[in-house]
Amino acid sequence: MKRVYNFSAGPSALPVPALERAAAEMLDLNGTGQSIMEMSHRSKDFAPIIRNAESLLRSLMGVPSNYAILFLQGGASLQFSMVPLNLAGVEAGTPRKQAGYAETGVWSQKAIEEGAKYLNPVVRASSKDRGFTYIPQAPAPDPQDAFYHITLNNTIVGTKWAELPETGAVPLVADISSCILSEPLDISRFGLVYAGAQKNLGPAGVTVVIIREDLIGRAPSWTPGMLRYDIHAKEGSMYNTPPCHGIYIIGLVLEWLRDLGGVSAVAELNREKAGLLYGYLDSSKRFRSPVEKKYRSLMNIPFVPVDEDRRKEIETRFVAAAAEAGLVNLAGHRLVGGMRASIYNAMPKAGVHALIAFAERFEKTL
Ligand SMILES: *Cc1c(COP(=O)(O)O)cnc(C)c1O
Repeated sequence: MKRVYNFSAGPSALPVPALERAAAEMLDLNGTGQSIMEMSHRSKDFAPIIRNAESLLRSLMGVPSNYAILFLQGGASLQFSMVPLNLAGVEAGTPRKQAGYAETGVWSQKAIEEGAKYLNPVVRASSKDRGFTYIPQAPAPDPQDAFYHITLNNTIVGTKWAELPETGAVPLVADISSCILSEPLDISRFGLVYAGAQKNLGPAGVTVVIIREDLIGRAPSWTPGMLRYDIHAKEGSMYNTPPCHGIYIIGLVLEWLRDLGGVSAVAELNREKAGLLYGYLDSSKRFRSPVEKKYRSLMNIPFVPVDEDRRKEIETRFVAAAAEAGLVNLAGHRLVGGMRASIYNAMPKAGVHALIAFAERFEKTL
């Protein structure tokens, strides 16, 4: 069997022990004689699976008891709509509300664009002036803001918030799709966080929402049932058929993470892995990181050739030769080009060493 080192930004590599367990349990899960994909979500066999995933997530992330954990669908992208709709949507014929947004990359821009359909988004901080290569100072939000939205880790440009903004009574909302469970996070600082599963948590098709209970139940009456946090919370994420298989895999990934020592242990590993790669980039004469040091992501590490004139040619060659060597999906996002190594929790340190060794060999061909 062949396994590559997969540096994809998402869907991305999953821990091998979780995949092996899923393979072993495929035909007969827990003695039921069924696979997870064939099982009724209302059965006594599925109930412990979803509750296990939820309670592991609660304990690993230290989610306080006054927050609900929801397993939804529609990706992180649907949260760009659900957040403004539920937290600041208004009844027909009444004036719009406003919310604050930090503009730190493409995903944050999509959140702003979508938010504009339900409210007046006010960009309170932006790093657009320098191609999103840093995180802007965030001024205190206006008390009128229904929430303040940030993208905690910017997957495409490879930045992360070094400190959380102070928002007073305004609920802080964060897209944590590409950094969930990568480092300890104080959930009590947030009103709501959300993450598509396919970066650091499991397969595509599940979105985790963690919401403070007092923010549940604010959706206007015209909100479609499937888009209401209150309905999903009341039904324990089983208002309709949940993404059973994805939730099951998340449970396996969380068990792997627990056995590894939890979030602080994986954070230590993540800092080590990112440190190795940034260390290489900072000493290389051929490649460099475009991101300001203070705001560098631990999860997504873009890099570009130093030689601007040959940039395109070097990138194409690098990505192809790396794939030949079993290091796949190193092309940067189509919007920014360059290379990008996504090194989520499941990427072993050996993968990072292999990438650096490859890049050093490649340099000699330039
Ligand atoms: C990948 C990603 C998204 C989009 O996620 P989908 O689940 O595909 O909708 C949104 N925000 C961030 C930060 C991401 O990394």
